[in-house]
Amino acid sequence: MLRYQGKICPMIRKIVEKAKKDAVGWTPIWHGDSEYSQFSITDGTDTYAVNLIARSCACRKWDLSGIPCAHAITVIFYNQANPDDYVAHWYRLVYNVYFFVFFLFYEMNIMIMLAEFSVSIQLVGNKSSWIHMII
Ligand SMILES: [Zn+2]
Repeated sequence: MLRYQGKICPMIRKIVEKAKKDAVGWTPIWHGDSEYSQFSITDGTDTYAVNLIARSCACRKWDLSGIPCAHAITVIFYNQANPDDYVAHWYRLVYNVYFFVFFLFYEMNIMIMLAEFSVSIQLVGNKSSWIHMII
């Protein structure tokens, strides 16, 4: 995982690349906002509303998955931006490495605590003294 040089995870990369291919044939219509974030996307039959700032599309795929859909990617390309920048942060490699390291240390702490606990049990004494301690 550390050898991967891209910004987003390889599995998510495949989904984004497929959405890029599916973006062909859609036409963005800018709604006139100052941030160039609100658009309608149409292929002549269907129309969806996309908001880049809200990271939302009327098809709901982007809202639910955190991965830009083909409609959103059409708008992102229209704005000459990078679709990777619109993928949710939890799919980014930096976060995954961070969580991997965090859980690695978390597991190590638990193992150290268990080791200390087992040592403390050994220091308590023999079985006959346990009965006197309980009573
Ligand atoms: Zn969509």
